[in-house]
Amino acid sequence: MNNSQHTLWYPYAQMKTQSHPLEVERGEGAYLVLKNGDRLLDAVSSWWCVIHGYNNTELNQAITDQLSKIAHVMLGGLTHNPAIRLAKKLVEITPGGLNHVFFSDSGSVGCEVAMKMAIQYWKNKGEPSKKRFIALKRGYHGDTLGVMSLGSDDETMHATFQDAVSPQFFVTPGDESELESLLKNHSQEIAGFFVEPLMQGAGGFYLHEPSYLKNAKTLCERHKVLVIADEVATGFGRTGTLFAVEQADFTPDIMILGKALTGGYLGLAATIATTDVFNSFYSEDSSKAFMHGPTFMGNALACSVALKSIELFERGEYLKKIKDIETQLHNGFKGVSHSNIVEVRIKGAMACIEVTDEALLKKSQEIAASNGVWLRPFGRFLYTMPPYIISEKELKKIIEVMLLCSAK
Ligand SMILES: *Cc1c(COP(=O)(O)O)cnc(C)c1O
Repeated sequence: MNNSQHTLWYPYAQMKTQSHPLEVERGEGAYLVLKNGDRLLDAVSSWWCVIHGYNNTELNQAITDQLSKIAHVMLGGLTHNPAIRLAKKLVEITPGGLNHVFFSDSGSVGCEVAMKMAIQYWKNKGEPSKKRFIALKRGYHGDTLGVMSLGSDDETMHATFQDAVSPQFFVTPGDESELESLLKNHSQEIAGFFVEPLMQGAGGFYLHEPSYLKNAKTLCERHKVLVIADEVATGFGRTGTLFAVEQADFTPDIMILGKALTGGYLGLAATIATTDVFNSFYSEDSSKAFMHGPTFMGNALACSVALKSIELFERGEYLKKIKDIETQLHNGFKGVSHSNIVEVRIKGAMACIEVTDEALLKKSQEIAASNGVWLRPFGRFLYTMPPYIISEKELKKIIEVMLLCSAK
């Protein structure tokens, strides 16, 4: 067998059987332009991050401006203006009380940082036995070894590693009494409750009520457990508010941002802590310091483009755009019913069609592409998370193609 054509190893793919990836040459707004000249409307924003579309002049410029000064410099013993300004901006726009920003380079690492922060928070407070976590069933917090332990046990992409990761506790979203009894029995060993607020992304776009989150926060506080909101997917408007926790009206102890933070230009994540969390590290005692420091943390190009992305979001009144997208999604999928379809879930600028059997979606990526739309379903879930700059006409096309792919 000749595997020499497989020098590039692709993600989540059985290399032997996957169909040949489409080669992209350029991007233009909501479109990918392929090497063969075809144009595909990107319905998934390159894994949910390219919120302004591709090749945005102002974002490009922000990077070139910074590039002519310095591309990257370590944050150990040195600092720079884009990182300082971005930290300040994030503190300003996130829920009140989140005041201290720790940068890293991807959502997974941002969540790893949050896990370590939570464990050390309790250790610094003299409670070293609190080092396990509660997570929601069907959750997803990244692919690295630590956060994989927070991915749910059933139906997952990480089944192979189930025995290799730390055992955590899992609860059913929406079930407050289950959470309460777990907290009653185990809080002395639990550091934090990890949650993708309101919308669980990679686990299947399941939704839960804001009231569940709010009550969960109260329960966790009562039982001395930190609440960690993973807003890597939901942050920057995806569920209809700038951050999903705003709808549940509480401030998490730690919040993680990633994906759309740079408008999809460069890898960057932020783990943002309350002053209470920060203060447990703040001491004359060097052993209480937080021992973490990714090489590329706070990369200057990434911070610069993130600042510009937030500026575009604010200036462009994106929350209104997102509201319009949500309305159009509701109207477009209204009354849809088919023997293949279990449910259509819509929240903010996200719509997911869950079908009865993943075999039904086997050809959907191809069918969508032949109709000029880039869709990338997984399992039983066919979804869109379009760039927020999408036009009404373009979104109409995405809805039509999603229905064509699922209800044929
Ligand atoms: C994508 C995602 C992550 C992981 O982010 P990466 O940048 O891919 O490492 C973590 N949490 C959530 C909720 C995500 O959607």
